[in-house]
Amino acid sequence: MEYLTILGSTGSIGVSTLDVVARHPQRFRVAALTARSQVDLLYRQCCRFEPKYAVLLDDCAAEGLQARLRAAGVHTRVLSGTSALEDVAALSEAGIVVAAIVGIAGLRATLAAARAGKKILLANKESLVTAGALFMSAVQASGARLLPIDSEHNAIFQSMPASGAGSLADRGVRRILLTASGGPFRTLPAARLAAVTPEEAVAHPNWVMGRKISVDSATMMNKGLEVIEAHWLFAAPPDVIEVVIHPQSVVHSLVEYCDGSVIAQLGNPDMRTPIAHALGYPQRIVSGADFLDLARVGNLSFEAPDLARFPCLRLAYDALRTGESSVVGLNAANEVAVAEFLDRRIAYTDIPGVIERVLERMPARPVDSIDDVERIDRDARALAQDACAGDVAVRSARAG
Ligand code: NAD
Ligand code: MG
Repeated sequence: MEYLTILGSTGSIGVSTLDVVARHPQRFRVAALTARSQVDLLYRQCCRFEPKYAVLLDDCAAEGLQARLRAAGVHTRVLSGTSALEDVAALSEAGIVVAAIVGIAGLRATLAAARAGKKILLANKESLVTAGALFMSAVQASGARLLPIDSEHNAIFQSMPASGAGSLADRGVRRILLTASGGPFRTLPAARLAAVTPEEAVAHPNWVMGRKISVDSATMMNKGLEVIEAHWLFAAPPDVIEVVIHPQSVVHSLVEYCDGSVIAQLGNPDMRTPIAHALGYPQRIVSGADFLDLARVGNLSFEAPDLARFPCLRLAYDALRTGESSVVGLNAANEVAVAEFLDRRIAYTDIPGVIERVLERMPARPVDSIDDVERIDRDARALAQDACAGDVAVRSARAG
């Protein structure tokens, strides 16, 4: 029996993971589940999977959940606070940790799993983006196994040469091709982008995901973060990683070799496929995803991304080339700008401008610790809040 902790079990990835786990009761058991504030869903998940621990951020909410579970005869122990997240990530009885918290909020717990030598199923790309070098060295030092469940990186992992030794060039890899759907605004006239609503931005054409990553997909910041994620996961220089728009989201990414071969992984857009791949690895296990009917899909099309329409993609490449503090700043400014857009305080088209102004005001410097990452993150958030307030002021002056 393999025991797992799911950090962020009430989110889109968390729920998909539990769906796969429920299909394999002889193989997987849940050791711990965590959520920020979705108490009712966490309660139902605890009743169904009876984990040893559950974690909520808030003390009162945790006490309430504990009382409800006790009344229902469920023996889960409910903990609270961010340090409890780190504790359940390093739990001795859980060999597998699914990192599915959204944003840099997932960093400390994901790192705790890396330090504890777990098999980590990584969805929380922001932790690798913001602390790539520290994270990868923690993985190496502890002997943790890092398996990507972001669909593109899982596809790349599946398309890489079997031998892991040597550089990408030594192994004959010429390019990594990250596919991107182009999101809901790929063909919208550019003049209409300023007026798009949060509802339109989160309505992704192919994937059902959390709100933050859905907006990131619309701006293509998601792909920018994924370029940085691929850089760390596969030790790939920025120039080796290329983005190609593929609106059908059937080819999940590709690896090109020096002999001209291109190896890709295909499937229906359903996160249960990469999750099942990583859960069972190296074995293949049933995921519940529908099987791909190529005749029904009909056409697969590809195009180069338009960097004028998607400035966030360029900003991410620039930050990766500038250095680690810029990447932390990029991520923080993006988290703030997306939250402000979802709260209808700034326009969709303000998002890249906010990020750009934050990065202009942050001198690039090396990052040497997690405390340092969190310091840069805090500074960048403050700058981003100022930049958003400036955009709000400009807009109301225009309106008034
Ligand atoms: P989501 O918003 O649906 O869920 C986020 C989860 O994290 C929830 O369980 C929530 O309770 C928890 N959480 C949020 N803020 C928290 C905080 N401050 N502290 C502790 N817990 C907190 O997000 P999602 O779409 O499932 O995405 C999760 C991660 O996976 C993100 O990093 C995203 O980029 C990545 N990812 C998601 C998908 C997808 O299809 N949804 C695909 C690839 C990668
Ligand atoms: Mg992805």
